[in-house]
Amino acid sequence: LEAIPVDHNKGIVSMHEGFTPLRRMKFFEHEIIVKQDYLFQTGSFKDRGASVLITKCHQLGIESVVEDSSGNSASAISAYSLISGIRCHLFVPSGNSSEKINQIRTYSSEITYCENREDAFRKAFEAGKRTYYASHCWNPFFIHGTKTFLFELCEQMGWSLPDAIVIPVGSGSLLLGTYIGIMDLQSAGLITKVPKLIGIRSAASPELFDDFHSRQSTIPIEDTPTIAEGIAVRVHPRKDEILDAVKKTEGTFLTVTESEIVDALKNSILTGFYIEPTSAAAVAGVRKYLSLCDKYETIAVPLTGHGLKATKKIADILSENS
Ligand SMILES: *Cc1c(COP(=O)(O)O)cnc(C)c1O
Repeated sequence: LEAIPVDHNKGIVSMHEGFTPLRRMKFFEHEIIVKQDYLFQTGSFKDRGASVLITKCHQLGIESVVEDSSGNSASAISAYSLISGIRCHLFVPSGNSSEKINQIRTYSSEITYCENREDAFRKAFEAGKRTYYASHCWNPFFIHGTKTFLFELCEQMGWSLPDAIVIPVGSGSLLLGTYIGIMDLQSAGLITKVPKLIGIRSAASPELFDDFHSRQSTIPIEDTPTIAEGIAVRVHPRKDEILDAVKKTEGTFLTVTESEIVDALKNSILTGFYIEPTSAAAVAGVRKYLSLCDKYETIAVPLTGHGLKATKKIADILSENS
């Protein structure tokens, strides 16, 4: 709490989220530290950011907010708005998992369905000029919530950190939060080692990967379908910060293909982790990173979204590929 930039004494909007389980699991013949960040009140790690951002809005007396999202951050922002009495208008691209859309319908005051992700952003940005844009991509308070992932990881590992943390990257809020968390603990003198941040993108939307490795993108900016819908974010207002954070930790960006994500999803479910396909992209990323890194490295990965968010998609994918 001391590290979070909100009033600590009143108006905190919380559902007692956090302290998700940390487990050591054999993944691909290697012991991996897995943080079950899908075990959250709304079913994804986005509750970390939503709690802090909506707390700030509540403390400022803001009465209505807008947000655009492909699913999980919309659920989180609208749920925390609902419990704090803030009106929440969402701009949502149609075509995502129906479970996510129905969850959002449960929480939000108003929904506008948009053609695609970029259209949703443009409309939310315009509407935000008249109310308040509670964006998980732009708003710094959201990122000061996601950093609690790193604080918990460190505390649960006995105040130490792994050699590398493999993170799925959509808008980059989890990666940036993790980086800020590392900096906070370092400046408080609680850690000396900085873990490498390994950003995972889908090969169907390789932005950031291309930028990091100074490559020209070969994929047109139209929508290329990926089952990892939660990281299919193609425009990054915080691109420079994201690239900088990965560089400073001596990490890297990797991409994973659709079939690698499907394999990782099967493997995760067989191991007892019922996660959504987006989270399986990170597991596929762990596998790729294992083929590149020193075999003594300790590696942690957050599993970011619950499988119940995408039951139909998961069943369809697994039956097609069995
Ligand atoms: C949002 C999301 C991500 C990506 O997080 P960003 O903060 O947008 O980079 C990864 N996995 C799931 C399940 C998500 O909902």
